[in-house]
Amino acid sequence: MSKQPPMPVMSNMVSQWIHGQSVTHPGARSQDVFNPATGQATRKVELASLETVNEAVASARAAFPAWSDMPPIRRARIMNQFLALLNTYKNELASIITQEHGKVFTDAQGEVMRGIDIVEFACGIPQLLKGDFTDQVSTGIDNWTLRQPLGVVAGITPFNFPCMVPCWMFPMAIAAGNTFILKPSERDPSAAIFMAQLFKEAGLPDGVFNVVQGDKVAVDGLLEHPDVKAISFVGSTPIAQYIYHRGAELGKRVQALGGAKNHMVVMPDADIDQAVDGLIGAAYGSAGERCMAISVAVLVGDVADKIVPLLAERAKTLKIKNGLELDAEMGPIVTRQALERIEGYVEIGVQEGATLVVDGRGLKVPGHEQGFFTGGTLFDNVTSDMRIYKEEIFGPVLSCVRVKDFAQAIELVNAHEFGNGVSCYTRDGNVAREFGRRIQVGMVGINVPIPVPMAWHGFGGWKKSLFGDMHAYGEEGVRFYTKQKSIMQRWPETIGKGAEFVMPTAK
Ligand code: NAD
Repeated sequence: MSKQPPMPVMSNMVSQWIHGQSVTHPGARSQDVFNPATGQATRKVELASLETVNEAVASARAAFPAWSDMPPIRRARIMNQFLALLNTYKNELASIITQEHGKVFTDAQGEVMRGIDIVEFACGIPQLLKGDFTDQVSTGIDNWTLRQPLGVVAGITPFNFPCMVPCWMFPMAIAAGNTFILKPSERDPSAAIFMAQLFKEAGLPDGVFNVVQGDKVAVDGLLEHPDVKAISFVGSTPIAQYIYHRGAELGKRVQALGGAKNHMVVMPDADIDQAVDGLIGAAYGSAGERCMAISVAVLVGDVADKIVPLLAERAKTLKIKNGLELDAEMGPIVTRQALERIEGYVEIGVQEGATLVVDGRGLKVPGHEQGFFTGGTLFDNVTSDMRIYKEEIFGPVLSCVRVKDFAQAIELVNAHEFGNGVSCYTRDGNVAREFGRRIQVGMVGINVPIPVPMAWHGFGGWKKSLFGDMHAYGEEGVRFYTKQKSIMQRWPETIGKGAEFVMPTAK
């Protein structure tokens, strides 16, 4: 790229992005977007009507024939330019995320980097789309398979990763030749528009990537639209289930990733300092608002008595601040409602009889008294019948469950309705191996607290954490966004032998 491109412009009314431009509709519904650290509404976001959704789908449909016909290597070149721009503006993107989500800036940088990884993977699309070929399946006949894009596809994403989760979807879908409509979370909608501007600057034809901002109206508009061929959803389990059922009923391809309750099993032989570091980072990082956050520590044998006091000390001294301050370890909660829900769960835990070791409720951060802050909370002696164990809290609340041995730990984790991520800390290779084989969870870490797979491995949970057959991104992503076609071909010299009425077999 010869010159530095202009910095994308962020406006006070977060717009739609349709056919390569920012679009607003006077008189449209809108809602406030908050900076959670200050508690102030800083922008508004327009909420799409059904007509706006239809406008975006029409644009994506019109762009599909030319885009899907473009040789994959040329699509990959545009993706490469997008990759370069994301690298140029990664700090600006991270700063937008911190200001609307609240997570600390360094964590937002990490999120952007994990999104960039997938764009980089998508640049390899010519290799990923390569089909299979068999010469001479029968005399004079060859057979090959190719994968073709689906058409217009849509992605609906949650608030907690406004860059990374959309990047699980649109780079793979677009590189594979589809055109895409993203419906980001209305709570932090600006990152999507910023990425759309960068993608246009990279040379993406108008209509290939569209953003509709909004709520249920926009989601249902996409779900019901006959021209939308596939839906990728990431968010809470009840909505994931709804999207999966309705999408399947309408004959769409659907992958719907839902909620989580991730456990970390700590064996008595584990390195205690490493386990404490792992638990603190994974439970309180991003204020626990990660689908791969650890919210349950399963403490095996006598390990609880060693580890709980160390966890308590660290939970009490977390540096909780505005995420833009570079030494912050934890920022605010995304909204006041989410803060109230989380603190409500702490009260439920107390009522249920769990031991409240550290109470994070009511935290006030000096200079940010209106911000949506809570501290890190730690419970001990939590049992599997309690709501704080069974339900997803999605906040900085860590529950310790004591079990007597490895078998009981496995049984506990496997009985939970969610199966997104899990971790086991041990120094015993056999325990580690057995854990990996026997655990009923989609993503497993051995001495790794948050085992989010890299771009080429694919991401997905089991049980109520994912509805659908294929995981997000990686080769599973390519399969999701393409359909296989098998072509069998022979040439004239064998033609003209008359009709064959028996099932063809190799001759
Ligand atoms: P959410 O389910 O409230 O929202 C997700 C998306 O669905 C948003 O775009 C939202 O606008 C839309 N939506 C909300 N209510 C809807 C309705 N009634 N009908 C149609 N659409 C609706 O989730 P959230 O609060 O934004 O995100 C947190 C949740 O996402 C947590 O449960 C977390 O575990 C989950 N999550 C899961 C993964 C994963 O990979 N499994 C990753 C990130 C987040």
